[in-house]
Amino acid sequence: MPSPSPDTGPSHRRDRAPSVVTVSEAAIASNTALLRALCGTPVMAVVKADGFGLGATAVARAALAGGAGELGVATCDEALALRAAGIDAPILVWMLHPGAPLADAIRADVTLSCASPRLLELIAAAAAETGLRARVELEVETGMHRSGCPPQDWPDLCAVARAAEQRGLVDVTGVWTHFGVTDDDAGAFARPLARLEHALRTARDTGLRPRRRHAAASLAAVVSPDARLDLVRIGAALFGIEPVRSRPLGLEPAARWETAVAQVRDVGPGDPVGYGAQYRTARSGRLALLPVGYADGIPRSAWPGVTVSVGGIRHPLVGAVSMDQCVVDVGDAVVEVGDRVVLLGEPALGEPSLLEWSLILGTIPQEVLTGLGPRVARVVAQGVRS
Ligand SMILES: *Cc1c(COP(=O)(O)O)cnc(C)c1O
Repeated sequence: MPSPSPDTGPSHRRDRAPSVVTVSEAAIASNTALLRALCGTPVMAVVKADGFGLGATAVARAALAGGAGELGVATCDEALALRAAGIDAPILVWMLHPGAPLADAIRADVTLSCASPRLLELIAAAAAETGLRARVELEVETGMHRSGCPPQDWPDLCAVARAAEQRGLVDVTGVWTHFGVTDDDAGAFARPLARLEHALRTARDTGLRPRRRHAAASLAAVVSPDARLDLVRIGAALFGIEPVRSRPLGLEPAARWETAVAQVRDVGPGDPVGYGAQYRTARSGRLALLPVGYADGIPRSAWPGVTVSVGGIRHPLVGAVSMDQCVVDVGDAVVEVGDRVVLLGEPALGEPSLLEWSLILGTIPQEVLTGLGPRVARVVAQGVRS
């Protein structure tokens, strides 16, 4: 089943859901525009995993409004969902699995990435079935040993692709790679880039005529001008996740996650909280119950460490996080049922951020964002500032 799409409809959904993520179209559009201006190249907005959990269609529309020229996703189904939503921008799909609906994707005018001769044959067969010519980009692996065609298989892939072109079944329009580099040293991209250029020469020598090459995701796009090539593929930065933490670009957070206090209780000193009595109150005070838990995207490892903002004041989560609820120690603050709680907000206003959570949880902001569960309502704040 697809994950929930953003709710742009009546506001009753907002009131009924235990928590709401507000997705800012304006932030996504302005982050896209900023990256495009910085790189000076066309931008592919990467909206895989349902737009990093925020709703692929809404994120795609906002990024296109901000100047992205095309979209990138992992699966054919993600591409087909965008087409079904009426989005006709170019789409590239790169994580094809056995059984992927290739013919449907070809009919929907989706560009398929290919990293093996075997997959190229499957794409050619699907193209033959549709009577159309499949647009294909070949992915070469340049040091990450993850996806992409291993360099030793590349000449074979090019030859198979060329043969399929000559049969009128595919058109190889691009060659690309993905970097495994995670540090912000521009020099680290030089080796994989040289391997990409080498692969491109091999492709040309085989008779292929790829019209573009691309490599950079958010990090390389920002730190390595050499890596920008003909296109940058931007995911994380769309959502306000800074590619280089120590040198922020001033990206705007695209997601704001709020809930409301569900219950308040008075406690004495030493009272246990939650499963296993793993936390005991230090003194008498108040506890606020939140109607969100690990199924909603607050991992159990959020305690100890994560704090949330209630009435502009930070209070810590305490005790084991449950599946559907968690507890905040608000001390002697005056907090009432229904008070708004900011789980993720605007760090410039002192609210918790994706980065802050990720540092506490020992992960990256992307994992926190995509960890938001299906019960969290996605509400799109419409309106792209011009
Ligand atoms: C996820 C992904 C991107 C975007 O990466 P970010 O670091 O989020 O910008 C680009 N290209 C590919 C192939 C990806 O899988």
